[in-house]
Amino acid sequence: MVEPLLDRIALIGIGLIGSSLARVVRRENLARHIAISTRSAKTLERAEELGLGNSYTTDPAAAVADADLVVVSVPVGSSGAVAEEIAPALKRGAILTDVGSTKSSVIAQMAPHVPEGVHFIPGHPLAGTEKSGPDAGFAELFENRWCIFTPLADTDPQALEKLSEFWRRCGSNIDTMDAEHHDRTLAIVSHLPHIIAYNIVGTADDLETVTKSEVIKYSASGFRDFTRLAASDPTMWRDVCLHNREAILEMLARFSEDLASLQRAIRWGEGDKLFELFTRTRAIRRSIIEAGQDIDAPDFGRQAVEHPKS
Ligand code: NAP
Repeated sequence: MVEPLLDRIALIGIGLIGSSLARVVRRENLARHIAISTRSAKTLERAEELGLGNSYTTDPAAAVADADLVVVSVPVGSSGAVAEEIAPALKRGAILTDVGSTKSSVIAQMAPHVPEGVHFIPGHPLAGTEKSGPDAGFAELFENRWCIFTPLADTDPQALEKLSEFWRRCGSNIDTMDAEHHDRTLAIVSHLPHIIAYNIVGTADDLETVTKSEVIKYSASGFRDFTRLAASDPTMWRDVCLHNREAILEMLARFSEDLASLQRAIRWGEGDKLFELFTRTRAIRRSIIEAGQDIDAPDFGRQAVEHPKS
């Protein structure tokens, strides 16, 4: 068996992302000791029942003591408070990373607390589901998914390589970019689709002319696919909206402009314009399948991507 990459990993936050990491770290033998910390006694107890780690504590500072790698997996709005709490206990030479969906805000919140000699490398695995909590995780979550790092100007290349190796062994492909670019890119590929989904499901919920039971009954004609995104964790997505505000507002402005143009094409019966757009967008779907980021099964692959629990 290959030597573990790390002696001790500390997972701060053990929800969907943290518990998926715990499972893959165990499966791939990436660390000799997995220290788990979460805010509530209830979640900690559940993590222990699931056997996700080797030690469990609600004190994040105790979990990070002696850890070679610390992964913070909490809602982005809480990353500053967590960094402040763990900072005095971080080992010199340790790598500190996070998995937050926004990067500029996480850097602004965490970097000021990072002590001298600790390598802070912000990260974001582009992998997830609409579920949350320690039961929702699975070891295969990161397989063939991108993990983006947004290193700081003074990031140590060796530490970056070690963290990249860690994520590669979790199954991910690695990319690096600056935080601002990350936030603008994610605003269009992830944040806007979620906001649109929250909005359309909210609109349907408010409609009085269509009864709620009809919305549910006929949902397979399109609506259902938005409800998966709109079922995502409210705390996480509230924080994403508040912490990637500028990029999201910019994308929303462009979206609204394009929607107005689509509305106009429908009003004026401009079939060619509609056909041209719908043909262009269909090609995007094909490119995603070709890039291995989804499978070409009907029903959006819903049956085929049922994940086994590990
Ligand atoms: P989750 O399943 O809801 O788990 C959240 C974890 O953070 C739990 O352990 C929770 O502790 C802890 N936590 C919540 N509020 C906290 C606070 N105020 N202070 C300290 N700890 C707190 O969330 P998740 O889906 O794993 O998301 C975690 C991070 O990953 C977020 O930053 C999110 O942006 C990012 N991310 C999510 C996805 C996704 O699809 N879900 C994908 C990529 C990245 P208790 O349960 O003990 O309260």
